[in-house]
Amino acid sequence: MSEVISRKSEGTEYEVVIGLEIHAQLLTDTKIFCGCSTRFGSGHNTQTCPVCIGMPGVLPVLNRRAVEFVVKTGLAMNCTISPYSRFARKNYFYPDLPKGYQISQYELPICGHGYVDIVTDGVERRIGLTRIHMEEDAGKNIHQKDGSLVDLNRAGVPLMEIVSEPDIRTPKEASAFMKKLRAILRYLGVCDGNMEQGSLRCDANVSLRLVGAEDLGTKAEIKNINSFRFVEKALEYEIKRQVNILREGGRIIQETRLWDSSAGITVSMRSKEEAHDYRYFPEPDLVPIEVSREWIDEIRAGLVELPDEKRKRYTEEFGLPDYDAGMLAEERAVAKWFEEAVRLGGKPKAVSNWMMSEFLRLLNETGREISEVPLTPACLVDMLKLMDNGTISGTIAKTVFEEMFHSGKEPGVIVKEKGLVQITDTSEIEKLIDEVLAANPAEVERYRSGETKLQGFFVGRIMKASKGKANPKLVNELLRKKLS
Ligand code: ADP
Ligand code: MG
Ligand code: ZN
Repeated sequence: MSEVISRKSEGTEYEVVIGLEIHAQLLTDTKIFCGCSTRFGSGHNTQTCPVCIGMPGVLPVLNRRAVEFVVKTGLAMNCTISPYSRFARKNYFYPDLPKGYQISQYELPICGHGYVDIVTDGVERRIGLTRIHMEEDAGKNIHQKDGSLVDLNRAGVPLMEIVSEPDIRTPKEASAFMKKLRAILRYLGVCDGNMEQGSLRCDANVSLRLVGAEDLGTKAEIKNINSFRFVEKALEYEIKRQVNILREGGRIIQETRLWDSSAGITVSMRSKEEAHDYRYFPEPDLVPIEVSREWIDEIRAGLVELPDEKRKRYTEEFGLPDYDAGMLAEERAVAKWFEEAVRLGGKPKAVSNWMMSEFLRLLNETGREISEVPLTPACLVDMLKLMDNGTISGTIAKTVFEEMFHSGKEPGVIVKEKGLVQITDTSEIEKLIDEVLAANPAEVERYRSGETKLQGFFVGRIMKASKGKANPKLVNELLRKKLS
């Protein structure tokens, strides 16, 4: 599945190599080293204290929950958890970093050597994780016409950085990897995955090398990408840029670049020569993090079933196609909805079909989350029963479903209110058939002289005349009789 770019004129080919660094904001109520709230969208500098604004003489105290969340993530991503790790100071000056250093981890991260599996175009690949470490977020500079302001609400918000091995080979795989991480983080409840608010963002590293080469080429790093689409677009652009340079006999310089989403290009931010020397050293104000075997076991025992395991179970237990199972398992709320409907007696295949088609379509059209709509699994199951016992037809069910989606009303109520009960009374159906036949004498003539494929035409007219309520099986039977 690796992306190979031909350099036909000279018979050489390049292979794309990508590694991602993902920053995820941890869903703790308070910051990583103080008790300030992490809530998003509060008034500027209202969630700050001497610790997170970097006053001298204060001491950080580590948030235990943040450690728990990172260990949980590490376990879910098949990492080894270090029994002993520590924080390090990353020194640099920037107005949104009043201490003059960020507390991060460097040579001893809390998690190492994991992996996640991704599927693109039906092919599964394993992407290695180098490490997961903890760090604090910086504040936010707000630039205005008459000057710049600093909001430190975000300073000290706990982050984890998940670093992949350079195992990714295409832009599509990069976004699949990011999607997979987001799904796992949301399942675990350790990050809300909200990319617009910056809770999940990524730096994408990319280089090219000749096919078959062992050594990695020189990479460029594209900073702070905040959508799946942008990670693909930015990488596609960057790969083309690098190919063009190499084709012309040029050399890639190691640099940090920015993705300009409105122009659809990456632009240079700084080269390696201008890169910071962060002068990392162990953080003297914090004791090392010790994670006991017992604590790891306890966290492991509390892990929920993850999307991949669910997908597998849905295919094995319910016989769902892999694609459908994957879609249903991707979001925890969707999976929960599905499982609840099945628990209430819905046939897994039927439930899945309605969720995969009508439900997803309506969610997409309205831009809503499954948790925001009033439709309950119980209502879908009731509707399926009404279909099974012939009260409503499949066509009518679509109308009922849409109404349930918007109002949350029970299907029985909707059927009554709207008079949607299926017509199974043969005399009533025969009357409709007679009307339609009388209105289309030419077609009747043609049918009788052998053009039997007109059956569909008549059925369509009759169903329409019944406003979709006639039982289609009866319509077909009675119609055939009448025409013969
Ligand atoms: P840096 O020191 O520049 O931050 P790292 O070695 O820490 O680089 O790697 C950062 C990320 O870049 C990782 O995800 C890694 O897999 C990826 N990476 C490293 N070297 C390359 C390369 N030559 N091409 C593509 N990705 C790379
Ligand atoms: Mg790096
Ligand atoms: Zn604080």
